[in-house]
Amino acid sequence: MTSAATLDADDAYPFAEPFRSPQGSPIRELFKYLGRPGMISFAGGYPSKDLFDRQGFGRALEAAYQADPAACLQYGDTAGVPALRRSLARLMAGRGVRCETDDVIVTTGSQQGFDLLLRTLIAPGDTALIEQPAYSAAIQALRLAGANILTVRTDAHGIDVDALRAQLDALPAATRPKLLYTVPTFANPTGATMPQARREALARLAAERRFVLVEDDPYGELRFSGTPVPPILALAATIPEARDWIVYLGSLSKIVAPGVRIGWALAPAAIARRMIVAKQTSDLCTAPLAQEAVRHYLDSGRLAEHLGTIVDAYRKRCEALLNALRNFVPDEIEFAAPEGGMFVWARLAGGRDASETVKRAIEQNVMYVPGAAFFVRDADASSLRLSFAAPTEAEVFEGVLRLAKALQSR
Ligand code: PMP
Repeated sequence: MTSAATLDADDAYPFAEPFRSPQGSPIRELFKYLGRPGMISFAGGYPSKDLFDRQGFGRALEAAYQADPAACLQYGDTAGVPALRRSLARLMAGRGVRCETDDVIVTTGSQQGFDLLLRTLIAPGDTALIEQPAYSAAIQALRLAGANILTVRTDAHGIDVDALRAQLDALPAATRPKLLYTVPTFANPTGATMPQARREALARLAAERRFVLVEDDPYGELRFSGTPVPPILALAATIPEARDWIVYLGSLSKIVAPGVRIGWALAPAAIARRMIVAKQTSDLCTAPLAQEAVRHYLDSGRLAEHLGTIVDAYRKRCEALLNALRNFVPDEIEFAAPEGGMFVWARLAGGRDASETVKRAIEQNVMYVPGAAFFVRDADASSLRLSFAAPTEAEVFEGVLRLAKALQSR
């Protein structure tokens, strides 16, 4: 970039349509405040840095390098290091999904998995469905793919499948959706989990109406209360026609560490083949050094214990947040209690605008994400997302006290 640039860069270059005036991630825009001394953040979807298994992962990294430095340093197969694919297939068996090593595509985070899928399915103008509210980077990916985005209604139990069926019935044939994106377990941003009956109904509907059901599942193992519900992909084993319509995206970001950038995708063979071709031009392969380290980490058997540790911590932090909200802002904020994951979805009373209030919150050195970031359209301006993953219990307590001050300083 030259400092003597004379062009009005936004107009000068022949950008592709979705990039003419792209909006950066609204959440990342908030990040500039994160570095402020003493800031308590309920904003990011970051796992807690004090909960990383630093020693265990460090040992795995070292062991991987010692065992085969050349494998760590060389390019690898586009679909992933076979030994890691095998470990991930075993991990999926633990989630009730039977798959073969060859079915697993290792991706550079699950975000890449969704991006690869969009490249194989969505041309500009194609229709895609997404739950609303939804993970903001999934919305952004659909926008940049030029999709015609239709939103699907959710309630406290995720997608309302009957409403979806009625919505599909009313669509003209030309707007037949190609896919539906959902986070059915401990959703980002709502924390909601779809019950089994809805999952089965949704899987059947995908097969019947022939759209690809994208099950994004980075949080599923972070359950701290209630009864486990299998992934939609696991339930589809008993609905033969449905398995051909589900793409499952997994991630180690929330259960091991996002810095390793390891995710995976399980897709029907014809889709998987195309995702691998797309990956060839995206990054050739996910960093073999990271794959080898993660493989050693998974095979060391430490994940189960680590999961126990983080789930316990998240349970306590979530309880601390809910208690503090009940005690300090009982009339100002209403919220839903999640059974796992990292997020509490809330709403300011009296129709107050959460994007306005966040400015006062930042003045008090506390942050959250205004809910509007998670809507494609018709945003609920009073909604907000609070993450309890990163702050300690003491910080959660102090953070809500500050939030109370911000809300009371009209
Ligand atoms: N899906 C959802 C629902 C997420 O919340 C996130 C991370 N915030 C991702 C995908 C991206 O995960 P990864 O780090 O594996 O790319």
